[in-house]
Amino acid sequence: MLRQEKLSEISDGRRYGLNDMVKADAGGCNGCSYCCETMTDTIALSPLDVFRMGRAVGKSFGELLDGYIELNMRDGVILPNIRSGGEGCVFLSEEKRCTIHGSRPDFCRLFPLGRLYEEDSFSYILQTGQCRKNCTKVKVKKWIDTPDYEKNRAFILSWHSLVRRIGEIVLGVRQEGEGEGKNAGKMDSERVCGKEKQKLLMTLLLEIFYARPYITDDFYEEFEKRKKEYLEKIGI
Ligand code: SF4
Ligand code: SF4
Repeated sequence: MLRQEKLSEISDGRRYGLNDMVKADAGGCNGCSYCCETMTDTIALSPLDVFRMGRAVGKSFGELLDGYIELNMRDGVILPNIRSGGEGCVFLSEEKRCTIHGSRPDFCRLFPLGRLYEEDSFSYILQTGQCRKNCTKVKVKKWIDTPDYEKNRAFILSWHSLVRRIGEIVLGVRQEGEGEGKNAGKMDSERVCGKEKQKLLMTLLLEIFYARPYITDDFYEEFEKRKKEYLEKIGI
């Protein structure tokens, strides 16, 4: 969780809910493409982002890796992000429009809003100094334009907690005494931080959540089944 002073450095210091009004509406951007030109390698893609993106351009995860996305380590976990071409995001057209707008990643959907995760919940924040327009007020719910909101929210929280957990294990920062058993924290860092185990955690994460095609239209249901499978396979 961000400390209050840290929050005020990157935002207006407020937490927003779905029905709040927030100054986030860039009015269609009107020719500006600043964030699409500068932020792509900071956009970590969730399995849902890649699922939607793959369907939008008709490519598998493996094919997306050939020019559209790349893998990078973040907080101990290897995750995909959008690849940056010479002039920014590979999905930005010559006319400076997003060519996958309806299927754009969650980060782009929210921007200039972001999420502040707290325990098993999150609220929205307005990132200041990021958007180049003088944004007008809009209701958060309208701005994020997310179908099946409750299912999406459950997925976001589920994925976020899994990635954070894997990162903690890989980096060996799990606190002594957390979790099940009196030596759980110590055991985890000893048991899973070897190179072979790290490789297994990452390989299975990419294989189970990204590379294997989703065969039903209910992404959220299939994701939860895969999460169960992943946790069973890695034994946590
Ligand atoms: S996916 Fe679309 S909205 Fe997101 S950075 Fe690329 S061009 Fe911009
Ligand atoms: S910086 Fe703001 S106005 Fe410019 S493209 Fe991004 S969201 Fe749109």
